[in-house]
Amino acid sequence: MNSHTSSNDSAVHHTLRTVFGFESFRPNQETIITSILTGKDVFAVMPTGGGKSLCYQLPALLREGTAVVISPLISLMKDQVDAARENGIAAVFMNSSLDQRELADIHRRLKGNQVKLLYIAPERFAMPQFIETLKGLPLSLFAIDEAHCISEWGHDFRPDYLSLSAIPIQFPGIPVAAFTATATEKVQQDIIHKIGLRKPHEVRASFNRPNLFYQVEPKTEVEQQLLDFLAGHEGESGIIYRTTRDAVTATAGFLASRGVKALPYHAGLPAEERQRNQEAFNRDEAQVIVATVAFGMGIDKSNVRFVVHADLPKHIEAYYQETGRAGRDGAPAHCLLFFSRGDIPKIRYFIDKTPDERERAIALEKLNQTVRFASHNVCRRRQLLSFFGEAYPGENCGACDICSGSVVQVDISLDAKILMSAMARTNERFGINHIIDIVTGADTKRIRELGHDAVKTYGAGRHKDKSHWRFIVDELLAQELIRQDGEYPVLKLTAKGAQALTGTGQVFGLKREEARKNAGKRKTSDAEGFDRALFERLRAVRRRLAEEQRVPPYVIFSDKTLHEMCRHFPVTSSAMRRIAGVGDVKLERYGGDFLEAIKTYGEKKD
Ligand code: ADP
Ligand code: MG
Ligand code: ZN
Repeated sequence: MNSHTSSNDSAVHHTLRTVFGFESFRPNQETIITSILTGKDVFAVMPTGGGKSLCYQLPALLREGTAVVISPLISLMKDQVDAARENGIAAVFMNSSLDQRELADIHRRLKGNQVKLLYIAPERFAMPQFIETLKGLPLSLFAIDEAHCISEWGHDFRPDYLSLSAIPIQFPGIPVAAFTATATEKVQQDIIHKIGLRKPHEVRASFNRPNLFYQVEPKTEVEQQLLDFLAGHEGESGIIYRTTRDAVTATAGFLASRGVKALPYHAGLPAEERQRNQEAFNRDEAQVIVATVAFGMGIDKSNVRFVVHADLPKHIEAYYQETGRAGRDGAPAHCLLFFSRGDIPKIRYFIDKTPDERERAIALEKLNQTVRFASHNVCRRRQLLSFFGEAYPGENCGACDICSGSVVQVDISLDAKILMSAMARTNERFGINHIIDIVTGADTKRIRELGHDAVKTYGAGRHKDKSHWRFIVDELLAQELIRQDGEYPVLKLTAKGAQALTGTGQVFGLKREEARKNAGKRKTSDAEGFDRALFERLRAVRRRLAEEQRVPPYVIFSDKTLHEMCRHFPVTSSAMRRIAGVGDVKLERYGGDFLEAIKTYGEKKD
């Protein structure tokens, strides 16, 4: 290592500590920063919450001139500029929401070399005048956020992004760094090609989100289940996804009637109300937002502590994106899916209406993947990662319902055989209820008429109740030993099932009784061991300061930073400075308020 890089090295770490208040980098941040500092282009796929902003903000501080950050949404831009300013970084944004006077002021500050970060919307690159303005300025780098928007192959294509290909041509000497949270290999190459990145340093980070706990629960009375879950998450921010607008309205209304500060969000609401509800959630004024998938893009709220799916998500990728909005700050967060096979026909209904046969087949396979995710006895994290072509290295992830032992494996070999035998002996021509009637020895007219009381396994399972047999059916469906078929769905054996029926192999199922009792009782405070009462007080301080500054509370300090304070109880300025997320400027601005609250709390407690 030569002296130049090592002095750079220490400058990088020094800035990380003093400006951002962090002791160490998250994975990949350091190599990305080093590449930009040496003038190289970068392309990086990092998951939500991976810390992409810091990858361009830090080098922007160390290089001469202004960094231009391209970001697709006005609402995001404002929050990011607020967050950067709270760290004492000279940041501004330029978009259609500004008037002439404000624009002139920004131009003046740009010319005076007083801006380190300039956030803009992509359409500005289609304006030759704007390019001329930039050419007159010393520039440090270009950062393109949500870079997947430039690819037609991605899921959020924005034609405006195509004009960004002008950047490497018009500004040949300036490094360009592109970031996204979602890109397959194919989309990645497309993005690099479309922007015209020059031999970029490419980074594909792991999609694993270690601080997220994944859980699937059988869905019964979902609104009551939501209420039970929320009882264990008092005061924590979260998103509840529902499939339809009607369900959103109903659930938000139900929760509000039970005293939960919940607001609805869906594309059918007037734009103004939507905006207002999103803002209330962002500022911690509403605890819960009940939403369709229309909600999510455009918020950077780092303290989302749970994401609950009250209905089956459309596909695994959507599920990953939606749950990904939890726990950006790195503190523990909970992802809960309420699963019922009853949701499948609703999705099937829409799939069946798709005219194109190929599209229909793809949609059906995606539905099957989601059902397998929810019903297989396999680590949820392993399943999600394998969807992105990533193998989870460990045996036990320790942070999903399967791995944490909140479900137990039971041997269901015998019951599986009883049930499958009843199916086989009636020529696989009957539905779930009738088969269960046979094994439980029900004395119905239909059974008698069909002579099914003479079937060998008739009544072989009468010592167990119907819900147990329903559980066996669900397990066998999940493991694809049996399948449902036809308009009035009858149960059929799959090849795998026929083999299991005659073979000697064992069949295992997952029992969730214990898990159900504990559902929603995982408070993040219990898991993390911090003082909950103090946290409540510090949250109130944060709320007050955020209102004064007119910024969202998480921009003052993240939940994770407050958790640390509630673990280490700093009462001196230097102890406060050691808390992750407390940089020099925040210490100066807010340190006193929080120190005081912690001291007062300590005195009362003694
Ligand atoms: P992304 O854009 O990748 O979703 P952000 O840039 O918004 O993620 O960062 C998410 C959170 O992680 C922010 O609260 C940020 O302060 C925090 N963060 C970023 N880098 C670090 C780090 N090195 N150590 C601790 N926290 C970090
Ligand atoms: Mg981001
Ligand atoms: Zn697991």
